[in-house]
Formats: sequence, structure tokens, C-alpha cells
Amino acid sequence: MTEPWRRDDDEERRGASGPVRVRVPAKVNLHLGVGPLRRDGYHELNTVYHAISIYDELTARRGDTLTLTMEGEGTGELALDDSNLVIRAAHALAGYTGAAPHARLHLRKQIPLAGGLAGGSADAAATLVACDALWGTGLSRDELAGIAADLGSDVPFLIHGGTALGTGRGEAISPVLARATSWHWVVAIADGGLSTPQAYRELDRLRETGAAGPALGSTDALLAALRQRDPRVLALALGNDLQDAALSMRPSLAATLKAGEAAGALAGIVSGSGPTCVFLTADAADAERVAAELEAAGVCREARTAHGPVHGARVT
Ligand code: ATP
Repeated sequence: MTEPWRRDDDEERRGASGPVRVRVPAKVNLHLGVGPLRRDGYHELNTVYHAISIYDELTARRGDTLTLTMEGEGTGELALDDSNLVIRAAHALAGYTGAAPHARLHLRKQIPLAGGLAGGSADAAATLVACDALWGTGLSRDELAGIAADLGSDVPFLIHGGTALGTGRGEAISPVLARATSWHWVVAIADGGLSTPQAYRELDRLRETGAAGPALGSTDALLAALRQRDPRVLALALGNDLQDAALSMRPSLAATLKAGEAAGALAGIVSGSGPTCVFLTADAADAERVAAELEAAGVCREARTAHGPVHGARVT
């Protein structure tokens, strides 16, 4: 039987004739449990991913070669060559399907670079979905997720979106069946990024010297908190094993976390490997207030409000 979302009519099999625009969210980790270092160099993760309403947008048009242009966050800093995850994703899809890797791609970036919000992974996910539609290759979500996992640990989640459990190195996703609750966040964006591999190395160093806090372990408490649908309960369950490493690399984040909680957020944590800090608030109005106070306190470059969960990469 054909999956309901699989495009099956003639026009779509040939691919889209006009531009394909895909919107993709940023992610935060509500729980990021970092286990031991594996033999392949990755850490074993136990995480709960959550997609929030800060988006990058990728537009794909027909072309004779593969080109990438961009605007927004990171313009002028981010290389647009074969090292860019957008180009790598387009080549990966072309290699898997046999399609010619020809497209004119344009990225509108709102997710900050190296911010711990998985912007690069989001762009890779958006590219897979956009080029699959442009080229009419019609892959299933599972096939796309398979290609995604080779591009990066967070990429399969950004195809799915919502709230999901991630295991392995984060690439093995199982959706969390959450009833229709919308959570309200404030996202405090820092000046400059932090390197994810460096944050993991710093955590290893802190653990070796006994300077890291106790490891978070299982996601059970977080999953139980999500089911209660009360932001005050969820606030108590948020946790990130990489937070100590991010604070050690960027001590000023302690002031950001403190300012958010002083402004009335229910809890604040570093997002992924940082330096972005995310704050859970009681409702949308509180989020606006906390964002304004964080900006006034000068403890971040910019504070944005967001809600989650939202869908993963989708054609708009
Ligand atoms: P994560 O949370 O997945 O660890 P991050 O949010 O900290 O990632 P990203 O913005 O995803 O960081 O980028 C990490 C690095 O990936 C960048 O410094 C850049 O060198 C590289 N990169 C390649 N392509 C992209 C892209 N399209 N957008 C952002 N970064 C990219």
C-alpha cells in the first residue's frame, strides 16, 4: 500500500516544475544524557529532542549545476562550498537515488550558527525534503531518515520534528506521543558560537577530573513530566549533561541563566552544546516579558520567543 504522504501522481514523479520551499525548525534537547565515549568516537546519548518555532527556509529551483546562496544568520561566515551541509545533503540524495545533483538552492537562515540548536542539521534535513520533491525521487520518510543519519546525528529528528526520544548517537528516533500541549520558550542567542566536538571533549575532561556533575541517566522522569502537561512540572525535569562543559567554555552563560530565572522563567538550560540558553515559561505572555528583560539586561545578543513542538522539515 502507498503511504499517504508518498507523492504518486505523474507530475510529482517527474519532479516539481516551480520552486520548492521547505521550512525546517531548530531543536532543543529537553533532556540530554551523555553516556560513555564509544569506540567510533561518538558518545552514547539518551536524549529527548523537541522542535521549536525558529525556522530556516530552503528554496530549491531547477538548475544546470548545483549552487547555493544564502541570507540571514551566518552570511559571510558560513562556507557555501562542498563543506556546507546543504550541498552534502543534495549530493547524498543524488547518490542514493541516481538523480542528477542539479539545483539552485537558496537558504534563508534564522537559526544561529554553532548555537546548539542544530541549524546545520536542520538545513541538511530541509535539503533532503526539498530536493526529493524537486527531483521527483519520492523517497519514503524512512529512506530519507536513513540518508539523514549518515549526514549527522540530529538530521533524522529534524525530518520528523515534534518531540522524540533519541538513542544511539542521537540518530535513532522514536516519537513521543504527546497530547496537544504547546510549551512556551525564550531562546537567548549569544554572540558567537561554540564547537560541538569541543564541548564533548570538555565534558570528557571534566568527568576525568571529577569536576562534572552527576550524569543524568534515563529519560523516564522527563517523559513522565511531559505527560503531566504542566510547565512547572516540566521545568523541574529539564536537564543537559553538556551544560557544565558549555559553562566551563563560556562562563558568562551563568549570568544569562540567572537573569532568565530572575525575570520569571520557570527554568533555564543551555541548549545542546550551547551557547544558546533556552527558558521554559508558563505561557506566551510570560515568554514575551522574559525575552524583553533578557535583552534589557544585556546578557545575550538577542532573545526570541518560540513555541514547541512543531513539525519537522516540510514543503510550504
Ligand atoms: P548541534 O546542535 O547539532 O551540535 P550547532 O547548532 O551547535 O549544532 P550548527 O549551526 O549546526 O551548530 O553548525 C555547526 C557547524 O557545522 C558550523 O560551525 C559549520 O562549520 C558547519 N555547517 C555546515 N553547513 C552548515 C549549515 N548549513 N548551517 C550551519 N552550519 C553548517
